[in-house]
Amino acid sequence: MDPMSTPILNFAELGLSSPLLANLKKIGYQSPSPIQAKSIPYLLKGQDLVGQAQTGTGKTAAFALPLLSRLNFEQREPSILVLTPTRELAIQVAKAFQVYGSSLKKLKALPVYGGASMREQIQQLKKGVDIVVGTPGRLMDHLRRGTLQLDKIKALVLDEADEMLRMGFLEDVQWILDHTPNNRQTALFSATMPQAIRNIAQKHLKNPKEITIKKESLTSSQIKQSYCFAKRRK
Ligand code: AMP
Repeated sequence: MDPMSTPILNFAELGLSSPLLANLKKIGYQSPSPIQAKSIPYLLKGQDLVGQAQTGTGKTAAFALPLLSRLNFEQREPSILVLTPTRELAIQVAKAFQVYGSSLKKLKALPVYGGASMREQIQQLKKGVDIVVGTPGRLMDHLRRGTLQLDKIKALVLDEADEMLRMGFLEDVQWILDHTPNNRQTALFSATMPQAIRNIAQKHLKNPKEITIKKESLTSSQIKQSYCFAKRRK
């Protein structure tokens, strides 16, 4: 093994809370992926973070676990907001929060996206949710109608920021960012870092820690590879 490669600590060493650690054991995650090992300590401390990483690297747990560990969810008003480019990702991320946080009391993560019943979403929001994961257009709709309040948001995540840029959501994203409290923690994840994304990070994040995960470091390839020379059969 390359001695210079990131040492993979275990989840307990990263400082996650014990209910989450117990839950990870149940889920069957044995060790953190590189992006998790690198991001979790900073996000646990409440710092802002820019992570260059693709889907498949375990980036959802890299932000979900420390935020679930750090915040308390007693207020029944959204504490965490995640922006995603697509409804599929919104559903996937909300589900991940629900799974990772299943050891926490009655945690509710709601995906909010266009093309689905507004009425149902409003009903869910009225009942009280802890985490909202949504696409920019529908989130703006709720904010304009007053059916979603973001004044208690403690942490905000921009997931697949370059996809949001590519899909023309950048102005909407900035508008939403401007409607969240200034003292929030912010994490931005993107597979690529075009200038427009760097500008967002510069304007909306506070002294963010920068982390880059190479394509090779996918969770699926956390398999140790080695080889040995064998003598040719005579
Ligand atoms: P993501 O990049 O967040 O879409 O995650 C990719 C896949 O890796 C998902 O199916 C996760 O459930 C899985 N995963 C994330 N972190 C770990 C881990 N530490 N150990 C095993 N599987 C993981």
